[in-house]
Amino acid sequence: MNVVSAFTQTSSTPVLVAEHLTKHYRIRRGLFGHGVVKALNDVSFSLEAGKTLAVVGESGCGKSTLARQLTMIETPTSGRLLIDGCDVAQADRAQRAALRRRVQIVFQNPFASLNPRKTVEATLAEPLIVNTSLNTQQRAARIEAAMQAVGLRSEYRKRYPHMFSGGQRQRIAIARAMILEPDIAVADEPVSALDVSIQAQILNLFMDLQERFGTSYVFITHNLAVARHIAHTVMVMYLGGIVEFGDTKALFERPRHPYTRALMSAAPMIRTTERMDERKTRLEGELPSPLNLPGGCAFHQRCPHAVERCRSEVPPLRNVAQRRIACHRVEDLSDT
Ligand code: SF4
Repeated sequence: MNVVSAFTQTSSTPVLVAEHLTKHYRIRRGLFGHGVVKALNDVSFSLEAGKTLAVVGESGCGKSTLARQLTMIETPTSGRLLIDGCDVAQADRAQRAALRRRVQIVFQNPFASLNPRKTVEATLAEPLIVNTSLNTQQRAARIEAAMQAVGLRSEYRKRYPHMFSGGQRQRIAIARAMILEPDIAVADEPVSALDVSIQAQILNLFMDLQERFGTSYVFITHNLAVARHIAHTVMVMYLGGIVEFGDTKALFERPRHPYTRALMSAAPMIRTTERMDERKTRLEGELPSPLNLPGGCAFHQRCPHAVERCRSEVPPLRNVAQRRIACHRVEDLSDT
């Protein structure tokens, strides 16, 4: 039984399955040389219909690279992506177009992601014109419904993006993503550019829409409080790989991987029920370059618990205490 099938034995069929997804970028170095940026490495997970998976980690951990693979903006170097059981790599042109409609994205910055020359109505009409055969009247009805769903008044339809606040712009961006009624929405840091007072409103909007339409979310965020608020499961990434994956409540109550513990120690608002030794879990040093990944455990240069084995042997992602963890010493560390 492979790691994905072991993890996907749930009551409902996953709407999204990633199997060993890997993305490497070849870049030029100097006049004649080249290097390989290993942005995503052997990432496997599944997402159930109507659920939210939060992907967390520091900048450069591979979160946004993962978002680009899931939304088919890029093609993975290796591995498989299945949407509702359909292998994206095997799909023909028409099937790929249909799959693209089913996976939509909400970008981080609503100031940059909306065309300043287009009214709200034109922005929301565009995906309908490209992807559906709805007539003008049907499109108008769909636009009206989408605006209502995200809390925008219909008289705003003739306005331009600069006439809105940041929160309202993100509502327009969410309406644009949801207007095609996707099965999956990938949200890449969707609240990090917004004022704190607006963030909770937008998160609650995402949750309301999920309840109404059953959309599954992959929520990319560096903010642990956001992940805790919105997600059913959390995937912690480090240097392009998964280090811990599990149920949100359990993971926040008792983080097990040293990197997850360090992330939580660094976030002042995160309280765990376990007493954690701040000194042992403090995150020190810089994230190593994905151009030159460390051997063994990718976290060993910053891990206070590293031993010789960690420097030479890559820890497999394995089932431990109803979650998946990549650490040789997780059992030894359970009482620290
Ligand atoms: Fe730390 Fe070793 Fe576990 Fe990696 S495998 S997280 S270096 S203890």
